[in-house]
Order: sequence, then structure tokens, then C-alpha cells
Amino acid sequence: MIKKNLFRLSWHFWRRSQCRNYCSTADAHVGIVGSGPAAFYTAQQLLKGCQNLKVDIYEQLPVPFGLVRYGVAPDHPEVKNVINTFSKVVNNDRCSFVGNVSVGKDVSLAQLKEAYTAVVLAYGANSERCLNIQGENLPNVISARNFVGWYNGLPENQNLELNLDVEDVAIVGHGNVALDIARILLTPLELLKKTDITEKAIKALSSSKVQRVHLIGRRGPLQVAFTIKEFREMTRLPKSRPVLDPDDFKHLADYLEDLPRPRRRLTELLYNTAVKPLEKDQKMWADATRTWHLHFLRSPVEILSEGLSIKGLRLVKNKLEGPIKNNPKAVSTHETIDLSCGMILTSIGYKGVKIDPDLPFDHNKGVVANENGRVIGVPGLYCTGWVSRGPLGVILNTMTDGIDTGKLILKDLKDNRLEVNKPGKDVIIKKLKEAGVQTVSFDDWKKIDSAEILKGESAGKPREKMVDISEMLNLVTKETS
Ligand code: FAD
Ligand code: NAP
Repeated sequence: MIKKNLFRLSWHFWRRSQCRNYCSTADAHVGIVGSGPAAFYTAQQLLKGCQNLKVDIYEQLPVPFGLVRYGVAPDHPEVKNVINTFSKVVNNDRCSFVGNVSVGKDVSLAQLKEAYTAVVLAYGANSERCLNIQGENLPNVISARNFVGWYNGLPENQNLELNLDVEDVAIVGHGNVALDIARILLTPLELLKKTDITEKAIKALSSSKVQRVHLIGRRGPLQVAFTIKEFREMTRLPKSRPVLDPDDFKHLADYLEDLPRPRRRLTELLYNTAVKPLEKDQKMWADATRTWHLHFLRSPVEILSEGLSIKGLRLVKNKLEGPIKNNPKAVSTHETIDLSCGMILTSIGYKGVKIDPDLPFDHNKGVVANENGRVIGVPGLYCTGWVSRGPLGVILNTMTDGIDTGKLILKDLKDNRLEVNKPGKDVIIKKLKEAGVQTVSFDDWKKIDSAEILKGESAGKPREKMVDISEMLNLVTKETS
């Protein structure tokens, strides 16, 4: 027992000495751009690693949490529990949230660099990849990013025009976002109504005529980007039935054994669903009124329309080139088929954008030009999360990014590579005030949060999100004055 306590004590002192080693008595002040998971995990690591370091988190919206609030599906509330951890981080006296500030517009990167010991770009991926095919700009051809933002209450997507008076919807892409949007289109309304999906989305979905959702993948079943939990959830969707062509799956049995475990389990589930579904699943699907279809080895080449009305999607058949288990490429055969549909959702990935003219940016990849989180050619500037390595990975992966970035900055501090004793947010907030920008603090966010929860209560929902920025700002001003 004594030995154990002694060990604990020495471990504690060793940890403390390590923390102190990271930065000297001088104050370090770090500014973070964005308030999604990457930002909060970086902040957490920094605050933990150095006792005289302060962090300010700048967010373009009046509300925090990035894709946890505006991306994660409303019917996955458990994923949003990370918000509790993030709130603890910002409730630390040494951490501030500065909302309603768009970096690159309201304040420049140069101004932030001037005010802070280090600046971390954690602003995610604010745009989307395009198919670059004819008809992509027609009404009812909508990017997954806009559709997700619409049902999740993202202010910029609230005027999205969409027509659900269609029986067939094509979703391009075989990723988890594609499954999220398919699920939202197919889930019975009585289940969705209990989530934090917006009132407006519920209203639109209540008159939806959607019967069939077609998920189109350019490669084969071994290359799907979605994961097993999300696929299984689709197979159990009430009143919906999967339609898979057994011919797409039969050959997979030969490869199963050599696959890495997660891919093997997913492929087995795909195979079983398509080729030998369980009796209980078949029973469950017997009363389905809607169907969802997985199409493989198809790429969109043209959107078919009459005037402004979508009639279908022309797909080219692909074949795979390269070793089947080693990321083979989809290559067009030039043979086309037409899929009839009245709405097209493109779910082929998000994309990062350059927010400031001074920022080194890799436009091809849609990421800040960086080497392991250090922005190339700009000492003191770091990037993390989706804006640093592209729009891939779940919150857990982004957590690792944030922790690594935090450690990197602490190491640079320890190595005296950074300038300390910088003024931090005071000077920035003064400039913003002079420019007439209303900032939102974390206490202000708590008021918005409470108002949303209160409004949701009467409808039996966890919250009813405010979808209008001026409404949020008015509420904050009213309550403060
Ligand atoms: P983001 O979460 O996008 O945060 C970036 C923040 O920066 C945003 O708040 C944005 O408003 C802000 N910002 C942008 N530009 C500026 C600017 N100029 N100035 C100031 N602020 C700015 N992962 C899971 O583990 N489970 C899930 O269920 C899940 N569902 C997902 C659903 C969807 C639709 C998507 C797209 C992703 C999902 N993910 C999920 C992945 C997860 O959301 C990401 O891994 C994570 O959010 C990436 O974090 P980030 O901080 O890099 O970016
Ligand atoms: P993703 O996982 O990268 O999937 C994108 C899909 O689009 C892939 O099937 C890809 O096919 C396809 N695609 C890309 N370019 C294409 C093109 N030009 N033509 C046709 N198809 C194309 O991206 P995502 O679905 O946006 O998800 C982003 C990240 O968020 C992922 O890591 C995902 O796991 C995560 N996320 C997680 C959850 C969850 O945990 N529940 C929910 C949502 C999102 P190829 O493979 O051939 O490139």
C-alpha cells in the first residue's frame, strides 16, 4: 500500500515537473480558429500541459461545437455527449470562447498572429467536392453538406430549396454521410420528431413522397467508405428494406479470410444481407413501405432533366483496376445506364477553403499547407483537424489531431521557438468592437443553449435549435442589457 502511494506521489510530481518544463514563468497565449472537436481537444491539451497558458477560441458562428452540432445526425444524440467535455474545457478560467467572429473577414490572420504566442487553425472543411458534370447546378441537385446543414439548423442552409415531392432520390457516394442522409430521408417521422432535427425539416419531411433511395458507389463492395455500425443501423431501419444485388457480392466470399478484421466484418454483413439474410431480418423487412438500394461500380456522368426538372442520373459502368484488396481505381467502361430519380444528393466529401489571403493553402487537397501540423513558412502558425489533413475521420481521429497539435505547441514553447507575453484577446476584442462586430462569450452561448432546450421541451425534443443568427444575437443582447 505504502509502496503504491509512494509511486503515485512520485508520478504526480514527475507529471507536474513535466508540465512546468513545457513553458517558463512567462505567459503564453494561444488563439484557436474554429470551435469544433479539433479546437477543443487542442485547447484541452494546452491547458493541461502548461499552467500559465491561456487559450481563446474564435468561432465564426455565435454558437460553438462545429460539426458536433451541425454535422452529427440528429438521431445520434449519444455522439454529441462530447459537448460536455468541450464545455468543461472552456469553463476553465484560462479559456475563452469568442463567437460570431469570422477569421479572415472580421479579423485577419496577421492581426491574430500579432496578438498571440501561437495561432492554431482548426476551422474544418467549409465547402464540398463537386462532381463537375452537366446539370450539377439544377434545382434539387444538392450537396450533402447543404442538406445536412439544412436538417441540423445551420443558419446558412435554412433557405435551401428542396423538393421532396419525388419518389426516387439518388445519393452519390458510399460514405457515412451518405448513410446519414439516407437514414434521415427514410426514418419514420415519429422517431425523428423526438430528436433535435429542426421543426422546418420535420415539416418538409412530413410531406415527403420519397419511396426509394439509391446509394451510388463508384467502386465495389470491398471499397465502401461507410462503417459497420452505420450499415447495420440501415438494415434495421423500421419500414425500410435494403435492396442489394446478390451478384455484386457472391465473389466476395473468396476474399474474406485475408481482409483486416473491421473490413472483414463489414463485408460479411454486406454479404449476408445481400446473399443470405437472416429469417428475422426478412420478417422485419416484410412490412417495409420504402426501399434503399446499393449500386456499385457506377459513376455519374450527366444529370438528366426536362427544363429545370430532374428526371434522372446517367451513370457510366466502371471496372476496377489494380489489386482488389489494395485500393483499386474505378475506371470507366464507357457503357452507360440511366437511373430515374427526381432529387440528387452529392455526398462525395467536404472540402477545406482558404480563409485569409496570407495563408499558405493546398487547393488540390483543400487543406492548409502544413508539415505535421506546422503551417509551412509561418512560424507560430499551426493547423489541426479536418483543415490540416482533409475531411476524413471521426471525432476520435480528430481528438488525436488536437492532442498532437497541443503537444507540438507545448514542445515549441519549451524549446523557446515561440514569442511569449503577447496580449491575447483583449487587443482583438477592442478592434472588433471598433469595427462594430458583436462578439458572443461562452456565457452568452449558455443563454442560447437554455432557450433552445426550453423551446424543445414542449415538443418533446432535446432542443429546438435557433436557426437565425440575428435571433441568437438579439437574445444575447436582450439578456445582457
Ligand atoms: P469542424 O467540426 O467542422 O469545426 C470547425 C469549426 O470552425 C466550425 O465550428 C466552423 O464554423 C468554424 N469556422 C470555419 N471557418 C471559420 C472562420 N473563418 N473563422 C472562425 N471559425 C471558423 N464523427 C463521429 O465520430 N461520429 C459521427 O456521428 C459523425 N457524424 C458526422 C456527420 C457529418 C455530416 C460529418 C460531415 C462528419 C461527422 N463526423 C462524425 C466527423 C466529425 O464531425 C469530424 O471528425 C470533426 O467534426 C472534425 O472536427 P474539426 O474541428 O476539424 O472541424
Ligand atoms: P468519405 O468517407 O470520404 O466518403 C466519400 C464517398 O464518396 C466515398 O464512397 C467515395 O468513393 C465517394 N466519392 C468521392 N469522390 C467521388 C466522385 N468524384 N465520384 C463518385 N464518388 C465519389 O466522406 P464522408 O461520407 O463525407 O464522411 C467524412 C468523414 O466523416 C468520414 O471519415 C466518415 O466516417 C465520418 N462520418 C462518420 C459518421 C459516423 O461515425 N456515424 C457519420 C458521418 C461522417 P471512393 O472511396 O471511391 O473515393
